[in-house]
Amino acid sequence: MNNSSVDSGREKLLKAGRIAAQTLNYTCHQVNAGKSLLEIVEIGEQKISELGGRPAFPINVSVNHHAAHYTPSYGDSAVVPEKALVKIDLGVHVDGYIADTARTVIIDSDAEMEQLTQAAEAGLNAAIASVRSGVRVWEVSKEINKAIRSFNVRPIENLTGHSIEQFNLHAGISIPAIAPASERVLSPRLKEGMVIAIEPFTTYSPSPRISNIGEAQIFGFAQRKNPSNPMLRRIFSQMKLKYAQLPFAARWLAEFVSPTEINDTLSSLLEERCIHGYAVLGLPDKHFVAQAEHTLIVTRESCIVTTKKLS
Ligand code: MN
Ligand code: MN
Repeated sequence: MNNSSVDSGREKLLKAGRIAAQTLNYTCHQVNAGKSLLEIVEIGEQKISELGGRPAFPINVSVNHHAAHYTPSYGDSAVVPEKALVKIDLGVHVDGYIADTARTVIIDSDAEMEQLTQAAEAGLNAAIASVRSGVRVWEVSKEINKAIRSFNVRPIENLTGHSIEQFNLHAGISIPAIAPASERVLSPRLKEGMVIAIEPFTTYSPSPRISNIGEAQIFGFAQRKNPSNPMLRRIFSQMKLKYAQLPFAARWLAEFVSPTEINDTLSSLLEERCIHGYAVLGLPDKHFVAQAEHTLIVTRESCIVTTKKLS
């Protein structure tokens, strides 16, 4: 890769980051008790396009004990509850250069909800402060854990941050919020220019591990698999093009098939393993979860936060 293509990649990463930050602010302002979750994500996804980006995945709106991967279905009637921790998690791409960012909105706040949300933010900030080229991921995880524990809450142990590459949201390196001593020397080192998303989740649950607790509404494309039915194959190739092979929402298919055909279309594609579902993730014991996330570019001395909050 020559220097000019590195530069334009950098520009696109920064542009995606600005759009993501602006959209996150805008979308979080839509979150009020009684408001339709579907309306919230549609407003956000519309905003991304208006600002000149594309969604890198459907906007996730995970409420209370839901941690991730909830996006409303077509015609979904769910609303923001009277008391809620609402995680808005969104991704933007510009020519495949991705920004991934999330924040927790508190509805009818109390001390515990504040604590959880602040702990997630503190974990994220501590991680950002520890990032520079040469640092092991393990060190970053240790800082996340330490910051979160100082609030007397716990990080979710089996959700992690991740490296990002062009058109690839989860590009191989995982950044957990816990750092077992035994994993220190095996832990990869961050390198200059690497793009990573850091996203600690917090909870008061005594068993802070998430499970699949709801049917998938978000789907990803399998590599090089096409449906055998010619009509479905045609729709499938349009979907791949439209979504740039990145994750998509079931409800988005309403632009390709009639709303009543969405489920059958997805079932056929799942059956032939052309796509896979991302189940809704959350705590079965119903404890609340908070989250904070930024995307950053690793530099020699520190990092550039591409999704930095705008004032
Ligand atoms: Mn995210
Ligand atoms: Mn992420």
